[in-house]
Amino acid sequence: MPPSASHALLLALAERYLGDLLPPSVRDDLQADFAAARAMLADCPAHADWLETTRSFHHWDDILADPQPDPAVADTMRQAVFDRRQVDIDYRKAGHVQAARIHPFGWVRRNNVQYVACTFWNFANPLWLAVHRIESATLQAIPAAPSATCEVRAAFLEHPPMAPTPDSSIQLELEFPEHLHAMIGERPPRGHGVEIGAPHDGWFRVQGEVPDSQGLRWWLLGFNDQVRILRPKTLKHELHRLLFDPLTDLVNRHEFALALSRRLAETRRTHQPLSLVMLDLDYFKQVNDRFGHPVGDLALKHVAAGLKASCRTMDLAARYGGEEFILLLPYTSEADAVAIAERVRQTLEQQPLTFTAANADTTTLTLTASLGVATEDGCTPTPPLDELAKGLLKRADNALLEAKKAGRNRVCPGSSRAA
Ligand code: GH3
Ligand code: MG
Ligand code: MG
Repeated sequence: MPPSASHALLLALAERYLGDLLPPSVRDDLQADFAAARAMLADCPAHADWLETTRSFHHWDDILADPQPDPAVADTMRQAVFDRRQVDIDYRKAGHVQAARIHPFGWVRRNNVQYVACTFWNFANPLWLAVHRIESATLQAIPAAPSATCEVRAAFLEHPPMAPTPDSSIQLELEFPEHLHAMIGERPPRGHGVEIGAPHDGWFRVQGEVPDSQGLRWWLLGFNDQVRILRPKTLKHELHRLLFDPLTDLVNRHEFALALSRRLAETRRTHQPLSLVMLDLDYFKQVNDRFGHPVGDLALKHVAAGLKASCRTMDLAARYGGEEFILLLPYTSEADAVAIAERVRQTLEQQPLTFTAANADTTTLTLTASLGVATEDGCTPTPPLDELAKGLLKRADNALLEAKKAGRNRVCPGSSRAA
């Protein structure tokens, strides 16, 4: 069913502000609706103008970030978005404070004032979509079921963004190094009775009960190997299995795709560049053929360790395929990404793998790689994130093929987006 103009507006906002928060399955299912909504808005000047006005709020924050000045309001909004709850707000309009019950999408901070993007009455009337300055917010205990007349793809396929698995929760016990104390205090895992102990011997403990959700995995992934998972022991194992490639311990391809999608959404909001470096080892089959598969495995681990060491905290190195790796470099221009790729190439060439062969001889094996770079400048207006990601990966792959064709052991920058 084609969306009405007001629903199209709602979908366009959802795509823009919730795009990187929706689970991929939900996002995929909504792609056609998002496209239909965009087409319809193009024909509806009044709504397109409204949307353009909201674009001028440059500081739409990541929905997970805690905006100033009132953390309590931010927390209420976050809880409501995650748990599909309603919120009672007092908001300021034309100098007066008014009350309303809303369903929040996200918030914006501008000139140090908090605003909320919301619909009134559970998606039921998107014409009431509004941006308000919030004075206070109270979470409503009763989950807001979308109304029967709601057309917006049954309120996102009746899934909340980042839906927790129903009826399951995890009792957590984690340890973090002391330097993360402030950061975790500001942004603890969302759940019940989460307590943060005082640092002791350089470590501090976080305990509590959290919903078993993708959100928790992402939260933990943000700390990479800086977290010690004490309880449940299975969580560590499960997290690892879900997130990492067992041989190299790098993030696996699936998690990489999620991270790329989130970073692309961020890039679109911030208009900052994002780069990919795709790396494929040269003549790797010969390594296996000459020295055997176990040495091949050792070589892959060696490359992975080198890549990890070359990453800044915000970068992400992943195993993309057999002997293919990929780096995700946020806030990195193409020129900088090419320089990073070149450094990675040189380091690999200059740091050979040393291993003991079956005949007890110590052998030195020099590995080389071909690398392709591609950059998204953050100014592409509207293609869906999946398309943007696909295009970027394709450009990195093409650049990698060029590097192979040109003789291997080299870096090729990507062709421009238009090419
Ligand atoms: P090119 O320079 O064109 O990339 O040559 P290549 O030999 O690296 O490429 P090709 O695709 O022919 O071979 C890739 C090899 O990587 C073959 C495969 O056995 C090996 N490989 C992939 N995954 C693993 C792995 O997990 N362990 C080991 N030991 N080898 C692997
Ligand atoms: Mg390959
Ligand atoms: Mg290869």
